[in-house]
Amino acid sequence: MPELPEIASRAAQMTELLAGKVIQEITVLQPKCLNIPAAEFQASLCGAKLGKTTCRGKWLFTETDLGRLLLNLGMGGELLLVKPDRLPEKRRLVFHFTDGEALSVNFWWFGYAHFTRPDELHRHEMTARLGPNALDVSLKDLAAAAKTQRTRVKSYLLDQSKIAGIGNAYIHDILFQARLHPLTQLITLTPDQISGLHAAIRKGLTTSLEKGGAFYEVDLLGRPGGFTMDDILIGYKEGKPCPVCSTPITKIKTGATSSYICPHCQPL
Ligand SMILES: [Zn+2]
Repeated sequence: MPELPEIASRAAQMTELLAGKVIQEITVLQPKCLNIPAAEFQASLCGAKLGKTTCRGKWLFTETDLGRLLLNLGMGGELLLVKPDRLPEKRRLVFHFTDGEALSVNFWWFGYAHFTRPDELHRHEMTARLGPNALDVSLKDLAAAAKTQRTRVKSYLLDQSKIAGIGNAYIHDILFQARLHPLTQLITLTPDQISGLHAAIRKGLTTSLEKGGAFYEVDLLGRPGGFTMDDILIGYKEGKPCPVCSTPITKIKTGATSSYICPHCQPL
């Protein structure tokens, strides 16, 4: 499932490869992923010239001169820039550009392709509820939030309305780097622990971002990300030695989810 490193890499690449292209035609094979009827979606975006793409949480926002295209790959998917005769077999939407290239959109399970008119992004409920991107949260913001939150640190970091972009791939290593047990209450953190957590969020996400995201997602040209299982410190490595103290990593139940921790480095 894509998280901030994958989505932010994709946004940067979309700006690089798609800005300036003009949409000529849109093929809609899964109308359910749209927020408006297919004919209206097509009419709204045909002729649009693409600008910059940014992201928040799992959403990609592509500016155009006619409004915004919002994409969310859900549990994962592919955005592929191809020649129209090389379209992948599995696709839900295809944007054909006037220069002869096409952007094929596929979701493994279910995703969204939404359109908002200029100046109407604030009316888009699904993205209006999102918190700031995890890499845009300052130490001051995190410290202020921690003072008021009785929530457990893991639930807080995964709550997309508080901080957007962290999911199950990166959470385990972020908490490990911060030396925090997932069930620690945010309100109990010392200033040093908060600054350690802030640094761990940045480190946990930028290491992958700099490598183009995780290996299980591909970029617009079909190349997998460079962040592999070898780059993961303790997540999904039950029984392997902790890289700091060699205690075996354990998988524990934390509410409805499982967590990977070093019981020595991350005591409750
Ligand atoms: Zn350890």
